Amino acid sequence: MKKKCIYGLMSTVVCLLALMLFACTHRQQCADYSMDYTVVMDTAGHYLNVQLIYKAEANPLEEKTGAGAGEVVLVMPRWAPGYYEMLDFAKHLTDFEARDTKGDPLTWHKEGMNRWRIQLPDDGCVEISYRVYANQRDVASSRVEKDIAFVAPCGVFMYVDGEQDHQVTVRFRLPDGWQHIATGMRPHEDDSTAFTVQDFDVLYDSPLLLGNFYTHRFTHEGHDYEFALETPDGAEEMDLEGKFRRIVSATTRLMGDVPYDNYCLIHMGQGKGGLEHQNSQACYTDGTYHFTSRRAEVKFLAFVAHEYFHLYNVKCIRPTELWPLDYDHEAITPMLWVSEGLTCYYEYRLLREAGLATEDEGLELLSTYFACYAPYEGQRHQSLRQCSYDIWLNFMNTDENERDVRVNYYFKGPIIGLLMDLDIRRKTSGQHSLDDVMRLLYQRFYRELHRGFTEDEFWGICQEVTGQPLTEIRRLVETTDSIDYASYLEDANLQVDTTEWVIKRKKN
Ligand SMILES: [Zn+2]
Repeated sequence: MKKKCIYGLMSTVVCLLALMLFACTHRQQCADYSMDYTVVMDTAGHYLNVQLIYKAEANPLEEKTGAGAGEVVLVMPRWAPGYYEMLDFAKHLTDFEARDTKGDPLTWHKEGMNRWRIQLPDDGCVEISYRVYANQRDVASSRVEKDIAFVAPCGVFMYVDGEQDHQVTVRFRLPDGWQHIATGMRPHEDDSTAFTVQDFDVLYDSPLLLGNFYTHRFTHEGHDYEFALETPDGAEEMDLEGKFRRIVSATTRLMGDVPYDNYCLIHMGQGKGGLEHQNSQACYTDGTYHFTSRRAEVKFLAFVAHEYFHLYNVKCIRPTELWPLDYDHEAITPMLWVSEGLTCYYEYRLLREAGLATEDEGLELLSTYFACYAPYEGQRHQSLRQCSYDIWLNFMNTDENERDVRVNYYFKGPIIGLLMDLDIRRKTSGQHSLDDVMRLLYQRFYRELHRGFTEDEFWGICQEVTGQPLTEIRRLVETTDSIDYASYLEDANLQVDTTEWVIKRKKN
């Protein structure tokens, strides 16, 4: 124990010395606007040691931030997009310091939970340093271990209030022997450990896996892909690459467009959840790709397809409350059932389209949602719309009375997705489907208008595709009325078995 403590102290000292040395080399380089981060890993203590060289633009502060002249306010996000819970990342932060280019301390004070107001020196150039404790195994949190680190950027990098749309550079000082950095960001041509992106939205949407792990790069249909697998056991045997390629191709056929140049699949060992990003996914797995059953494999492929489809549905097709993103406040929207629930429905659709699940396996997947929703009392107490709106109150749904009083958009959402899809097909005599709604939302709001959609605009798009309003479906979303499943499923030759809570093909 004692030995470990000494090692930890030494490691911290070495890291701080490295940061100080780096700061010295930077003191000559603060002539223009600068937002330049350097991160050093403290593997023994599980810390990310962060340094920011910030140089204010010429006289931007009063009009841009409302800060007093000669001040700057740094803000740590309170949540990470896709994870609809106030995580208050500032609670992991310690040892905040602000200095001028001569190394002299600057006056600063904390405002609220996640804001630091700093007096700027005459040259407008400051060096900020702080440490972030990183030892959690969930996809919104960072983790530093002996030979690997996962960096979830929302909890590591502060933005300057009013300057989230400014270019930012991050550099990583890797411990000896660390070989890889995997992320959706492209590295500098002359430095594979440095990344510059156009704004903080891109940075916050680009997690990184650093250190020693399995990597594999390939191209597919004109785009670059990278696998970064912390625990690759069984990945080749199950043909993860081949199956992922089929998910990508099926999604491209469905959406008619690929909105990224490159995509990075970060899969880690045992931990909590998966998180979608514009050109990456970060997921914890069971630590192996050897599945105990075919059912477990289909469930895993559905998980990968879910996070992949999100790059369209929620990263491009966004409720208006999620565009622009406000990292300091809850983004409360009644439309998360579209973002999450319909994405769950498209797990089923994509696995079927990709030929990765048989019809029975696809129906089994849908049935799991049905079984988690239909038998429970909560459907009579909360609508799907209200569930979306209130999700910030109980994101993880862990209350003991959860299923008695609430619904979950991960369960009722895909059921409504199925009914919507069948309803649109029936009303248009098979000419259109929910796919047309997704494509039109993508083209109209993401590609043409470059903004999110309102609730009325969503239903307007449904009407535009169908030629008539989806009045009944909207009622099922906005009320707790019971659902007449047979009236939707009959045309598709499906039925609900309410004794076993499964969706089945009807016998001919
Ligand atoms: Zn999701």
